[in-house]
Amino acid sequence: MKVPFFNLDYIHKPLKQGFLNSISEIIDGNGYILGKEVSEFEALFGSFCSTKYAIGVGNGLDALKISLKTLNIKSGDEVIVPAHTFIATWLAVSEVGAIPIPVDAYDDTMNINVELIEEAITLKTRAIMPVHMYGQMCDMKAVMDVANKYNLYVIEDFAQSQGATFEDKIAGSWGHINGTSFYPGKNIGALGDGGCITTNDISLFESAKMNRNYGSLIKYQHEIKGVNSRLDSIQASLLNIKLSHLNNWNNERIKLANLYYEKLKHINSIKFQTLHASAKSVYHLFVIRIDNRNELQKYLLEKEIGTIIHYPIPPHLQPAYSDLKHKKGAYPICEKISNSVLSLPLYPGLEETQIDYICESIIDFTLS
Ligand SMILES: *Cc1c(COP(=O)(O)O)cnc(C)c1O
Repeated sequence: MKVPFFNLDYIHKPLKQGFLNSISEIIDGNGYILGKEVSEFEALFGSFCSTKYAIGVGNGLDALKISLKTLNIKSGDEVIVPAHTFIATWLAVSEVGAIPIPVDAYDDTMNINVELIEEAITLKTRAIMPVHMYGQMCDMKAVMDVANKYNLYVIEDFAQSQGATFEDKIAGSWGHINGTSFYPGKNIGALGDGGCITTNDISLFESAKMNRNYGSLIKYQHEIKGVNSRLDSIQASLLNIKLSHLNNWNNERIKLANLYYEKLKHINSIKFQTLHASAKSVYHLFVIRIDNRNELQKYLLEKEIGTIIHYPIPPHLQPAYSDLKHKKGAYPICEKISNSVLSLPLYPGLEETQIDYICESIIDFTLS
């Protein structure tokens, strides 16, 4: 049996004719940039995220970058980020000229350790950027409490958690302004690049909306020095079709994750991402932890099972961040996570027989 790490066929095949019809309508209508499909999607996605406003942008990194820019975060400022995250979170901060200040992860949930945030705050701190890793939200109640205490902004990076909740409040609705990604592999992905900003604040909304389009709301009238980062009409129309299925796909992910738990829970050498009692995960990824991770990955590859490590090298140890002079061992939990995580295949359309095969293979490995 062959199990690819990721496959979009199950999601895309039944929607393909609808996609083609949508694209065809856009070709006939000629509204390729900021057409009505974009505002339709923004209205729907804002409502999905329980926020008043949503702004479609070019990708997830831009969603975060424009959010920071909209808050006027700039050179000389510090932004608290998780040590354990995809590097885009850090790069967004760097791109506006601010400095990412890492905070280590919890060993169990692998999300930012909210108890360590306070000691990372300085007079230069302007914002906290929590990331909901692998589909499970951070303790946002605690993040908002510390942010309010120090008068800091919160920007959720919810690229991995569209539809997840904490205390029944959805990802992308907690922070002052938040960013997500529609990279094809996310829980809802475009057929190319895309991203979105969410907020309840009308002035942040207006400013972000200008920012993504050359700093302009009225053509050739430029209020601020903006960028060009727009979700295009074709991607928006495809996302419109996909959004109505997102809850079903997330439920399917949850069902598959529960199968994994059921079949692997008795293996002592394997640990899972602990679920916080108040969090509902949408399992962007199904991540296990095991000491001899590299050997397991190799073993599964021989069995034609695709796996990926999210992420093998934390941002603070990347050559790109050598200027910040972080030392190996500085964020020990994050480094331990990097050395032990392995993401197993999990996507709508993955079959129980495939999960059986994956789990049997893992069990064989742990017994050998
Ligand atoms: C995917 C991802 C991003 C970046 O999204 P792009 O659309 O690829 O720019 C940012 N943060 C996290 C946590 C992600 O997983």
